[in-house]
Amino acid sequence: MKNKKCPNCRKVINNQDKRQKYCNRKCSKEFNKGKNHHNWKGGIKHRPDGYLRNSQTDQYIHRETMEEYLGRKLENWEHIYHINGDNSDNRIENLQILTNSAHRILEVKKQRRGKDGKFRR
Ligand SMILES: [Zn+2]
Repeated sequence: MKNKKCPNCRKVINNQDKRQKYCNRKCSKEFNKGKNHHNWKGGIKHRPDGYLRNSQTDQYIHRETMEEYLGRKLENWEHIYHINGDNSDNRIENLQILTNSAHRILEVKKQRRGKDGKFRR
């Protein structure tokens, strides 16, 4: 019989009880609070600028989402634009890649909007 290993600390578990996946409850808790958890929402920092950052990788969530979608790393000059203007809405359909300069133009346009959401003339 193969030795089971705790997925969190990699220690061999001597107990052959099939239900026991972790060496102890602490490891079970630690492992499940990470991104292995099926419903992982933790580790997100809200930035003052409205963007969300992954506190584990220290990357912006919208960049990670786009990188996962593309299957490659983003270049420094590739900026991610939130189409609906909500910087915390990181659904892939709300994200668009822009070059540095195109992003700046859009940001300037956004600033010209009044509080009613309409563009000022
Ligand atoms: Zn363990």
